[in-house]
Amino acid sequence: MENKDDIRLLSPEQLKDFFIEKNQSKYRVDQISDWLWKKGVSNFSQMSNLSDSLRKSLGEKFCLNKPTKIEVKKSIDGTMKYSIQLHDKNSVEAVLIPSKKRITACISSQVGCSLDCKFCATSRLIRKRNLFFYEIFDQLFYLNEQSNAHFKRKVSNIVFMGMGEPLLNYKNVVKAINKMKLPGGLNFSAKRITISTSGIPKGIKNLANENLNCNLAVSLHSALQETREKIMPFSKNFPLEELMESLKYWYSVTKKKILYEYIIFDGINDDIKHVKALAKICEVLPCKVNFIEYNPIGDKIFRPSKVEKLQLYQKYLTDKGIVNTFRISRGRDINAACGQLVNLNGFNL
Ligand code: SF4
Repeated sequence: MENKDDIRLLSPEQLKDFFIEKNQSKYRVDQISDWLWKKGVSNFSQMSNLSDSLRKSLGEKFCLNKPTKIEVKKSIDGTMKYSIQLHDKNSVEAVLIPSKKRITACISSQVGCSLDCKFCATSRLIRKRNLFFYEIFDQLFYLNEQSNAHFKRKVSNIVFMGMGEPLLNYKNVVKAINKMKLPGGLNFSAKRITISTSGIPKGIKNLANENLNCNLAVSLHSALQETREKIMPFSKNFPLEELMESLKYWYSVTKKKILYEYIIFDGINDDIKHVKALAKICEVLPCKVNFIEYNPIGDKIFRPSKVEKLQLYQKYLTDKGIVNTFRISRGRDINAACGQLVNLNGFNL
């Protein structure tokens, strides 16, 4: 690990100062930005339109903390999971999910997770640290290259549904999205980015104020506080009332509907009481419900519900005019499906 700062931590103003100090034109900032955020170079020697001496000066002062090792696993359904070793030997996972209409990149925001969603394998990892914004960006950059190489198409959608709670690494997630959007860089449309949160009210309100234009998904899993606390114990500190209040704020500012993510667990949230509670919450704000198939993670409490229960939920919501879909998990055979990301690759845990 290098004992220098990653050059990407510098603001354009700081970079400008650096170049002025080196008697260089301040327009070097645009050239560097192009190398960093469009071409995604991994070392200064690749910056071919800079002089040798300038590249040397950059290398003496800064570093580029790029992933040091990436392992890939391919699912029978085409999903690709990437285990990415970071410069400090920690690792995260990212997933590329191809379909006819889109290529989705599912990316991570933290090494491990500090929350305790009982159905999620990542919750068993202690949160080691937040990812820097450039490490979040690098996941997209790499997955985009992979997408072009394997599917001859660019990544079309990004979901923050990998390891970690994105709103608990708020600043880096927002900064990473702004880098993904850079017109002179990847020029990714924020309309195609979804931040999936387990429900951090303060973060939701702050995000509404960012004017990012991205979408919001909330892992709800129960519209009854008592049950939600059993599934996601941290939600004791973020009661549904507070969550709904933040979602109302989100909608009032962004006018973007909410996507509720919902797993139906056998014997836990699959009775009519839970169905009615979900419908009631859905009537508060424009929304859509996405039922997600449960991916067992080897525990005895959580089991997927019976198909009739899904049908019960879907019929009840549809009769009330609430849009809902059911998502079949992808990449389950390589532990790449929702809630399964746990770094089983042998990298440092
Ligand atoms: S579901 Fe998301 S927020 Fe909950 S433990 Fe897993 S990674 Fe963390």
